[in-house]
Amino acid sequence: MDIDVMPAAFIGHGSPANAFETNRYTAAWRQFGQSIPRPRAVLAISAHWFIHATAVTAMAKPRTIHDFFGFPPEYFAFEYPAPGDPGLAAEVSRLADPTWVGLDQDSWGLDHGTWSVLHHLFPAADVPVVQLSINAAQPASYHLALGTSLAPLRHQGILVLASGNIVHNLGLLDPSRAERGFAWAERFDEAARAILTDGSAEEFVDLEHHPDYQRCVPTPDHYFPALYLAGLAAAADERASVLVDGYALGSLSMTSYTLGA
Ligand code: ZN
Repeated sequence: MDIDVMPAAFIGHGSPANAFETNRYTAAWRQFGQSIPRPRAVLAISAHWFIHATAVTAMAKPRTIHDFFGFPPEYFAFEYPAPGDPGLAAEVSRLADPTWVGLDQDSWGLDHGTWSVLHHLFPAADVPVVQLSINAAQPASYHLALGTSLAPLRHQGILVLASGNIVHNLGLLDPSRAERGFAWAERFDEAARAILTDGSAEEFVDLEHHPDYQRCVPTPDHYFPALYLAGLAAAADERASVLVDGYALGSLSMTSYTLGA
């Protein structure tokens, strides 16, 4: 492994509560942040910026977005004041060409898919952060290809951080299964793990034909971020490693992956 290549990660972020709690997931995220070279900036691909466009935050000071409901007031008061990086935003746009990437000046910022993880990786909020939207109008193959095109960033000291959940069905949450998954959730998560750790990008795209896909991925917002890690892995001919794994409330998988860590 070339030590000049920045690791990359897909983090299963789960509940916004993980931003503020210390548990085995957040401990693993924190340890990952401490184990890697300090990045020049982070390119975050969060499930929570799922729009009908491909865009990057291009403002110098991205705002902290509190995109959830029903949590305590301190969650809404939290600020993650990391600076933006307009130069990185422009570089992402250039790398993605001919895919058009909008430079967002005022619509988004850093949502909780990004800051609930970065609060553990870089608690001082002193590493610049750019977010890339997930284009809801595009198929899995588009996201894989876009992820592949971002691979040069790893040679420029940029940490590519995808944040979602491989299995994410909020309609089927089961409070009696605090740290257990439904059988279908475990089957799909294990199929994804087998491919990410020992398979090909094409096989990962084909997972949408898995018999449990519809139940595990009722909407693709939390799943698509994993395609960016699969794309980065393909570009470098690497296999991902499991950083931490587990299930929450039956229908969430918390499995996180790293490349080059
Ligand atoms: Zn989420």
